[in-house]
Amino acid sequence: MDRRCEQCPTPLPTMARRHARYCSARCRQVASRARRRAAAAALPRALVERDRWVRHSPTKVPLTTTGRPASSTDATTWSTYATAATSRVGAGLGLVLDGDGLVCLDLDHCLTPDGHARSWAQPLLDQLPATYIEVSPSGDGLHVWGYGDLAHGRRLVYGAGTVEVYGAGRYITVTHRPWHRAPSQLADLSAVLAELL
Ligand SMILES: [Zn+2]
Repeated sequence: MDRRCEQCPTPLPTMARRHARYCSARCRQVASRARRRAAAAALPRALVERDRWVRHSPTKVPLTTTGRPASSTDATTWSTYATAATSRVGAGLGLVLDGDGLVCLDLDHCLTPDGHARSWAQPLLDQLPATYIEVSPSGDGLHVWGYGDLAHGRRLVYGAGTVEVYGAGRYITVTHRPWHRAPSQLADLSAVLAELL
C-alpha cells in the first residue's frame, strides 16, 4: 500500500518505520504547529488571555516552562499561554486560579471507560449553562470552567461521587480535550455553585 506524508503528498519510502507519519522534520513541525493552533482555537479566549500558565510533571507537580518548580501562589513562575503551550517541559499544561473570578469544578472519576457521564454526575452536568468542559488527563474526569465567587477550594459529596470546586491558590491541568460539544466560552456558574455549596 502506498503511504504518504500526512502533511504533503510525498510518498513515504517503503522502508519507512511503520508508525512514520511525515516525510521530513519540516512536515512534522508544520503539522504540530497546525495542531497547536487548532487546540488553542478550541480554548475560550478568557483562558488563553490569562498569563498564568504553568507546565506539570506526570505526577501533577507544577513546573515553569523551563522546568523549575512552579507555585500556584508565585506569579513569577507563570507564563503566557503561547510560551507554556510550546514548552516541552513535563507532561502537559495547567492554568493557575488566583481568585479573579475564574473557577473550575473538578468532577473526578465521573466518566465511564467509553466516555459517558456516570449517573451520579448527570444531574450536575444537565444543570450547567453553556460553558467550556474538558476531559482530565486521566481520561475519566471532567473540568468545568466558568465564573463564580470562590475564595476557598472545597471538596463536596455529590450523590455517589465527589466534586471539588476551586477559585484560587491552585492550578488546573488543561488537556485541549473538550468534552462532547463544549463551547469555546465561559458561563457564570454562580447558580450551580450556590446549589453545591
Ligand atoms: Zn511531507
